[in-house]
Amino acid sequence: MASNSHPHPWSPLQAPKHLAKKLSLDPKTLSLASSDFGHINYETPLAVFEPTSETDIIDLIKYSNSLPKPFTIAPRGQGHSTHGQGLTHDGVVLNMNRLSDSRNGSEIVVYDEYVDVGAEQLWIDVLGATLKHGLTPLSWTDYMYLSVGGTLSNAGINGTAFRFGPQISNVLELHVVTGKGDLVKCSHVSNSELFYGVLGGLGQFGVITRARIALEPAPTRVKWLRLLYTDFSEFTKDQEHLISFHEKHDTSGADHVAGYILANLPPPRDVSFYSEHDLPKITSLITQYGIVYSLELGKFYDNDSQSHVEEELANLIKGLKFIPTFLFEKDLSYQEFQNRLQVDIEFLKSKGLLDIPHPWMDLFIPRSRINDFNEGVLKDIILKQNVPVASIIFYPMNSNKWDDRMSAVTPNEDVFYALGLFRGCFDKKELEASEAQNWQILQFCKDTGIDVKVYLASYKTQLEWVEHYGSKWELIKERKDEFDPKRLLSPGQKIFN
Ligand SMILES: Cc1cc2nc3c(=O)[nH]c(=O)nc-3n(C[C@H](O)[C@H](O)[C@H](O)COP(=O)(O)OP(=O)(O)OC[C@H]3O[C@@H](n4cnc5c(N)ncnc54)[C@H](O)[C@@H]3O)c2cc1C
Repeated sequence: MASNSHPHPWSPLQAPKHLAKKLSLDPKTLSLASSDFGHINYETPLAVFEPTSETDIIDLIKYSNSLPKPFTIAPRGQGHSTHGQGLTHDGVVLNMNRLSDSRNGSEIVVYDEYVDVGAEQLWIDVLGATLKHGLTPLSWTDYMYLSVGGTLSNAGINGTAFRFGPQISNVLELHVVTGKGDLVKCSHVSNSELFYGVLGGLGQFGVITRARIALEPAPTRVKWLRLLYTDFSEFTKDQEHLISFHEKHDTSGADHVAGYILANLPPPRDVSFYSEHDLPKITSLITQYGIVYSLELGKFYDNDSQSHVEEELANLIKGLKFIPTFLFEKDLSYQEFQNRLQVDIEFLKSKGLLDIPHPWMDLFIPRSRINDFNEGVLKDIILKQNVPVASIIFYPMNSNKWDDRMSAVTPNEDVFYALGLFRGCFDKKELEASEAQNWQILQFCKDTGIDVKVYLASYKTQLEWVEHYGSKWELIKERKDEFDPKRLLSPGQKIFN
């Protein structure tokens, strides 16, 4: 009786033979699985599970469910979370990457209208495979070396989301192993509650093992522009104008709309786009105004439409209120454009700046309050404090491209903005100052009633998650009870554990 109510914690040494041989206790493997891109949170798992089939994942989850004191299971894609969302201290990290060893050529299979991919695959490889057939997924992240399962567990956004929605809006079907160990094929019409649950579901309801992603014919080239503003309301008015084109079913609009905030803060940021020749005048504009807004626009085209693209582009930017002498343009292949962040990542890697703490924060801000946000956060907090920010992203999206039946949450307005604060810290003092500033921003929004939603959130208490989900909380709880009643999956999100 007593031993049932207080069962001993599980040890990997107790696992049945067929699972034990795939549970690694190697110190180096455990150490790699004990942190993430953020380098802020550290938790050592009891073991790392190396599945070579979906059946292995089913067996592991069923085994844990069968124990009097089940262990937690944390699927890990590329480990690119920033605050330990993929970690566990009382369970097993599920190394999704090992699955690809067993795929035998079925890792990425391209059809006319969709691609079937293993959830452990990287988006860069999905792009490479589909382009061979002249096809492409529609919605992207800026960084392409993320796993399909990892981004679909969040949302997957960049400057294409205004038009095609986040990556979760472009999924046709999923294979999921639930927290009970059932392998379920699900879609909008079949087992839809699980389908909507896992999309944006932060790994809470099941392990995504396979995804079917919608494809369209791929363009071959991209006109990539940056237009600079010193006036926030002109900048946002123009961004919103550009994202409204497709709402009116007008295909002559932009295909990619994003934006950056350039400010006089250490270290120098987001300047790799610009040539050596242009940099001095941009720097002096930033020095003069303190803050400069950069609108990023991408217009896709192919060889057939080459003759029209210049004219379409000219029409598109006619009437925009950027500073006329601060328009910068590049022309590159579609593949280079989608992989454009890699140049910056390689640079950071070469300087050893990828292995330092990254207290990033991503927010969704309701459109109606962006002026208050600009004054209260961008100018009064970020600009006035000397806390390092490597890059600040700021761009709008259309809510109607998101599906509210999915688990992701967004502000309750037709248009909302994404803010990304990307930081790297060299010492404890910088890390503390950055985390304090992140907290101050959230507190400012709370105090002034700006109903922001944190993207890629890292709350520490369930109460904060209840607030985050708002009216969706009951649904999230019901989904957890149905698909992972023993609360095994993705404990690092700290929603139910
Ligand atoms: C350099 C960089 C650039 C980024 N750029 C963007 C961007 O442009 N747009 C954007 O939207 N995001 C971006 N992100 C954030 C990124 O989408 C998330 O961190 C995402 O989780 C990364 O995928 P991953 O494979 O590393 O996931 P992991 O960190 O390994 O996992 C994230 C969460 O999902 C769970 N999980 C992982 N795989 C599965 C699965 N198969 N089934 C169920 N649950 C699973 C994990 O348990 C964990 O809770 C960026 C991150 C970095 C570090």
